[in-house]
Amino acid sequence: YQPELETHDISVARLTKTLAPTLKKLQRNEELVFGESFTDHMLAVEWHKGQGWLAPEIRPHGPLMLDPSAVVFHYAFECFEGLKAYKDKEGRIRLFRPDMNMKRMNNSAQRIALPHFDGEQYIECIKELLRQEQRWIPSEYGYSLYLRPTMIGTEEALGVRASKSALLYTICSPVGPYYATGFKAISLYANVREVRAWPGGVGNAKLGANYAPTIVPAEQAAQHGCQQVLWLIGEQHELMEVGTMNLFIFWTNREGQRELVTPVLDGTILPGVTRDSILSLARTWGEFEVSERKLYMNELVEAERDGRLHEVFGSGTAAIVSPVKRISYLGQDIHIPLDPANPEGQAGPLTQRFNDTLMGIQYGDIPHEWSVVV
Ligand code: PMP
Repeated sequence: YQPELETHDISVARLTKTLAPTLKKLQRNEELVFGESFTDHMLAVEWHKGQGWLAPEIRPHGPLMLDPSAVVFHYAFECFEGLKAYKDKEGRIRLFRPDMNMKRMNNSAQRIALPHFDGEQYIECIKELLRQEQRWIPSEYGYSLYLRPTMIGTEEALGVRASKSALLYTICSPVGPYYATGFKAISLYANVREVRAWPGGVGNAKLGANYAPTIVPAEQAAQHGCQQVLWLIGEQHELMEVGTMNLFIFWTNREGQRELVTPVLDGTILPGVTRDSILSLARTWGEFEVSERKLYMNELVEAERDGRLHEVFGSGTAAIVSPVKRISYLGQDIHIPLDPANPEGQAGPLTQRFNDTLMGIQYGDIPHEWSVVV
């Protein structure tokens, strides 16, 4: 007789700490390169089928010991998140909508048969990690501590099936502003060949497997003098995303209304936290139409021709917003005005306003429920 084992969820009450014997030297802000230096400690918690989640632990940042047969190495049982911790003027640590990242991570995990976890409790564990790593969070405006929650399947087996064990960990990396010297508008290469995600696929999940195949297309874009890929799908060249950002267009639509529009979440688009925040701000402002729908390249070409195209930008945690000045499409260039009032400027007024509002909220200068004090 086997009594049914009780399975545990993640609980901050069970968190243990093993601290590093020596601490690393902090880098100067100017030396920071995105994702290339890591703090002293990480957070890790194991899951085993039948037992559930074990006690979470804060321990020195360091290599993992995994058997070469672990399923993560063979069948890409991996999903991750990206969010930032900010220091406000009073020196308090803040997170931006971390509940959204936990929800998205649970969705991603579920798609690849990795276990569910209590997102609220995991945020409490992350807060403990942040208190431990305080000194690593830069206080200058625009700087932050990037957090990378990651979940992998760790079962040692080559059978293609759900992993019987998993590891959820979070590592931290101090980062600088994406645009250190003000915005620099980017050019996009509209890719009509490779597809990032497709109906019924996994584009709406943040799986590592979605990213490796984007590098070769990104290199091709660079060969065409563009900084990012504009991802399209289908014979009508439906617009999807910009590199690793969601896509926004601000134009006067065919009906003559000013409209902010972004591709609808149909399962092929990553539901960005920044995307959701921009839509929500725009709807609160109520100054123009806000739409989520399918968008096609011919609409963009037509809008440019008719002088209705005002601003195009990408959105994501790394840069908040990234203004677009040019799209290379089938050998032709679509030009997007940046700021008619300021020809030297690198971002349109609406792009700039989203940036300033979101940054203000993230750094606690604009009070908002999205900013969570640790
Ligand atoms: N699309 C893709 C493909 C991404 O990798 C990201 C970054 N997570 C985003 C969009 C933007 O998402 P977020 O605003 O949550 O950073």
